[in-house]
Amino acid sequence: MSLLEEPIKGVPLVKNFIGGEWVESKGELKDVVNPCTGKVIARVPISTKDEIDAAAKAAQEAFPDWRRTTPVARARCLFRLKELLEENFEEVSRIQTQEHGKTIDESRGETRRGIENVEVACGIPTLMQGDYSEDIASGIDEWVIPTPLGVFGIIGPFNFPFMIPLWSAPYAVATGNCVIIKPSSEVPLSQRRIAELADEAGFPPGVWNVVNGGRTVVSGMLEHPGIKGIAFVGSTPTAKFIYKACGETGKRVIAQGGAKNFMLIMPDCNVSPTIPALMTSFFGNAGQRCLSGANLVIVGEDDKFYNSFVDAVADTVSRIIIGSGLDEAVQMGPLRDKEKKESVLGYIESGIQQGAKLRLDGRKDVKITGDYPSTCFLGPTIFENVTPDMKIGKEEIFGPVMSVMRAKNLDEAIDMAHSSPFANAHAIFTSSGKTAREFQYRIVSGNVGINVGIVAPMAFFPFSGMKDSFFGILHTQGQEAVRFFTESKVVIQRWL
Ligand code: NAD
Repeated sequence: MSLLEEPIKGVPLVKNFIGGEWVESKGELKDVVNPCTGKVIARVPISTKDEIDAAAKAAQEAFPDWRRTTPVARARCLFRLKELLEENFEEVSRIQTQEHGKTIDESRGETRRGIENVEVACGIPTLMQGDYSEDIASGIDEWVIPTPLGVFGIIGPFNFPFMIPLWSAPYAVATGNCVIIKPSSEVPLSQRRIAELADEAGFPPGVWNVVNGGRTVVSGMLEHPGIKGIAFVGSTPTAKFIYKACGETGKRVIAQGGAKNFMLIMPDCNVSPTIPALMTSFFGNAGQRCLSGANLVIVGEDDKFYNSFVDAVADTVSRIIIGSGLDEAVQMGPLRDKEKKESVLGYIESGIQQGAKLRLDGRKDVKITGDYPSTCFLGPTIFENVTPDMKIGKEEIFGPVMSVMRAKNLDEAIDMAHSSPFANAHAIFTSSGKTAREFQYRIVSGNVGINVGIVAPMAFFPFSGMKDSFFGILHTQGQEAVRFFTESKVVIQRWL
């Protein structure tokens, strides 16, 4: 076993990046702990209301000049940021692994997806072109200009510390707005590094700000009259709270919430590519993904197919290599922290109590490669005989737990998925085009997979979500993000 070098050395104090300066917070400090080693790797401040106000002021002051900077010039800063992210690709990936615990391959994938959003935003001169109509009446023309609004708050969850703020920030600044990013305080180091690179890329002071912390910072953003909108990604209860608060204060809002994704297995599916697709879907990122498979629904009444399929899944799952994400051979890292592991353990207990059959017990069958404390590690777990009304079939577990269900036919399987309040990413595995078409037509889900286990939209497509998985109208990423970060100004001119 050889480990890649850790990029974060010592125990740095994370500062806020406000108005182009790294400023020490007056707030209390919290430890950032590497979940694999249990070691403190940084200290992050829980910033105060004054500090979010200071960031809002700096961003408001930077806005007039940045808005007047031509889109082509703004895109040049983004091109430079993309180059710097590429040059530091391996370092930023390892930072994600060190602060979050995910495997280095998962981190590299996250880095790539984040950079792709910067690349798409580089096309801003064409992405934000307006519309023009000549002669709406004789000698009168009318046109629409997408204009930036000012300052936006961007609030990220813990599970993708590098990528998720990049679903929004590049589009916000490309369109001429200024941003204040609040990373999850559990994983602040990726955004710290991106801000350093944004500074180096030439964004003027105040355009790209980072304020670390928790609820005080979020409330400060929500209450601040100078902050025009919020792009939030996190759990459903917080998403609902943010959506409501933005409605009350008249702010624009994207609020992407939690998930409980159903993966339907039709008896005609092509089994050999389906099994590996399910492995990454259910157990990638240790199940801490809004696109993770949660409920595996085997469709049909053929017991032989059911048994052979579940045996094949269980066999493959039991061979997943667990350990440090900096070991290239490892396939699954720890959960982000002890509390998250305890929450997942609570779900496992409830599954047992509600009568589900524990096929693979991640509490006992976990073998960790390397000498690490078991605090945050949990092996992959499989339950059979799960029904959608059980707690483990209904609620978001956000851990490496697969709940296997059975449905008589496609109708029943779709009804099961529709019984969930969430609708983030449901998928079907089938070799029938007709069944696939029927599924994608009927299923209520923001992202739909057909023979694909992780339905992650490319940066030029919206990152969707429906029902309790999404609150708002426009989504992060691509053209929809450009629309979210601009408002339309309509001009009518009589040519005198
Ligand atoms: P979370 O809601 O606990 O936290 C998200 C952010 O909100 C963090 O920055 C946190 O500091 C802040 N926050 C938390 N509680 C708050 C409160 N009461 N008031 C104000 N701010 C608060 O979410 P998390 O645990 O960090 O992330 C996991 C969740 O995110 C899961 O539910 C997952 O499904 C979801 N998620 C959704 C998507 C998506 O695109 N739909 C993507 C990734 C993660």
